[in-house]
Amino acid sequence: MIKVRTEEEIALLRENAILVSKTLAEVGKRIVPGVKTKDLDAFAEEYIRDNGAVPGFLGYGGFPYSLCISVNEYVVHGFPSDYVLKEGDIVSIDCGTVYKGYYGDSAYTFACGEISAADQALLDTTEQSLYKGIEAAVAGARTGDIGYAVQSYCEQRGYSVVRELVGHGIGRNMHESPEVPNYGRRGHGVKLAENTVICIEPMINQGVKEVYLDDNGWGVYTADRKKSAHFEMTVVVRKGAAERLTTYEFIEKNK
Ligand code: MG
Ligand code: MG
Repeated sequence: MIKVRTEEEIALLRENAILVSKTLAEVGKRIVPGVKTKDLDAFAEEYIRDNGAVPGFLGYGGFPYSLCISVNEYVVHGFPSDYVLKEGDIVSIDCGTVYKGYYGDSAYTFACGEISAADQALLDTTEQSLYKGIEAAVAGARTGDIGYAVQSYCEQRGYSVVRELVGHGIGRNMHESPEVPNYGRRGHGVKLAENTVICIEPMINQGVKEVYLDDNGWGVYTADRKKSAHFEMTVVVRKGAAERLTTYEFIEKNK
């Protein structure tokens, strides 16, 4: 069942979205060579709690951390750890919050120090494909229109789209209907109603689209160990153009 949100619900989702957006920017400032990824997680948990919210991922389905931190060939759901970030790493941070009974969810892939031109192109393409997906998320369109927009943009540039994980509706639960794949055919899939709130989150690989699951049951990494990027925003489906609830403006300010 796909929920259409009232403006009051959207206001609460927006508060969560702003907090995850600020958390991502604060974590991003701390992504430098020499930092352990588990220290980023500890910082994020404290920051979220200091703002009166609760980390949305901690304990979700048994996930044991506040952030998913997925470095280089890791696509999503990486565990924070004793790994020490090094110059040239690309670091995907996925952050969730719960506040006043609603969820927030956003992700951004950061460069650690100087990265290669090829890796920067992966990040740029993935971020731009997210915006293509958002452009397609208008009332009356279908989830396949979003997937087509993301997939065609990335595949035309030689990248591949992960199939096993998809975007989703969000509300009183982190993951609600509909599923929002990053691949698809125009005019297919679930029809999007005005005031539906969804997370669009392309996961884009430099090499093959196939992925493997870590022995820990969570971390997802590319089958060929080439790099992968992940960008995610929460948006409201509106007539004419989607409204972004999350924002990268706090991240951009730090650049
Ligand atoms: Mg997420
Ligand atoms: Mg998500």
